[in-house]
Amino acid sequence: MPQLNENFFDLEKNYLFINIAKKVKAFTEANPDADIIRMGIGDVTLPIAKCVVDAMKKGADEMGVKETFRGYEDSGAGYDFLREAVSGYYKSFGADVPADDIRINDGAKADCGNIVDIFGQDNIVLVTDPAYPVYVDTNVMSGRKVIYANSNEENGFAAMPDDSVKCDLIYLCSPNNPTGSVYTREQLAQWIAYAKKNNAVIIYDAAYEAFITDDDIPRSIFEVEGAKECAIEMCSLSKTAGFTGMRCGYTVVPHELVVKSSKGEDVQLAQLWGRRQGSKFNGVSYPVQCAAAAVFTEEGQKQIKENIRYYQNNAGVISRTFDELGIKYTGGKNSPYIWFKCPNNMGSWEFFDYLLENAYVVGTPGEGFGKNGEGWFRLTAFGDKDRTVEAMERFRKLLGK
Ligand code: PLP
Repeated sequence: MPQLNENFFDLEKNYLFINIAKKVKAFTEANPDADIIRMGIGDVTLPIAKCVVDAMKKGADEMGVKETFRGYEDSGAGYDFLREAVSGYYKSFGADVPADDIRINDGAKADCGNIVDIFGQDNIVLVTDPAYPVYVDTNVMSGRKVIYANSNEENGFAAMPDDSVKCDLIYLCSPNNPTGSVYTREQLAQWIAYAKKNNAVIIYDAAYEAFITDDDIPRSIFEVEGAKECAIEMCSLSKTAGFTGMRCGYTVVPHELVVKSSKGEDVQLAQLWGRRQGSKFNGVSYPVQCAAAAVFTEEGQKQIKENIRYYQNNAGVISRTFDELGIKYTGGKNSPYIWFKCPNNMGSWEFFDYLLENAYVVGTPGEGFGKNGEGWFRLTAFGDKDRTVEAMERFRKLLGK
């Protein structure tokens, strides 16, 4: 009889969004006429840019012709044309990331979880709380000790390192899901200094970098001095270019990032990661990589930015309503998420029910992202413009004085 990985018993019983879906299903069954506005799951709603779809079609056509058909991609790291395009994109905002340090993947979620394969079991993992649940779940599944750095109202939901705390792996996410907060260059420099002092590695999730509008907020940790010796970065086209249903992202493990083995030998993490991917991952489909490369062309950037602006306008509609209603929030700027304090000291699940029952609006209870999320709530700006305006009307009716 096989033994189970009983670390799974230490996980929250259900993934957050499954719990929400169950509650919404029960509510709609009981209230079939309720006109529900969904602002919970952070999924995009606009179609993919035309030039990106055209590139995918062209790639698909090539697969149907003997001369241009492609099977497995040799390196498994992604086609050079896409890795070069990603490297050029990094250069466009001042980060020097060579194509050789980039591996293409089928989205950031998988790599956020898979990266832990290259680290030992006894590592202590520091996660900012609240956080995207994947960081905690994947480490709990593999039995690692997880400790937390508090993101809260006092620090603007941007946790900073505490010198008295020791750890080996650090997950940071900026712009942050769920809180919409961003790290400044100086704050990232502090995390880098802390990581170096502790010989720790930062796993930096930049999935929402495309939403940054302030020029002085870094889009990549590699814009900050010293990051290449202590950080890995994950990024994704999911929110940048509407790829949630296409699946494509990239992970950067700099060749400068070296960790000592237990025998005292220097080991390049990029080499271990390449070895891991070589055994467990067979790459992203050719048409999808063609589509991804189109995102980084001049025309692609122009078209995807129109969609991003649409979501940013929605974020503006939400932020302005909250300003008007005197609701405290973070995000909305540099981020598609608005993270706000539940009114009247309600708990976050209590407010979830209140909002669903009285305004037919679905959001995400902050508590689902960690203990510091209790009493806070997340809305996304990824919805339809008119429905976002309508949702804010309902907020005014519900919460206006
Ligand atoms: N990282 C963060 C912070 C996210 O919020 C998400 C998706 O919501 C991902 C990664 C996963 O993105 P992908 O669709 O590329 O797997």
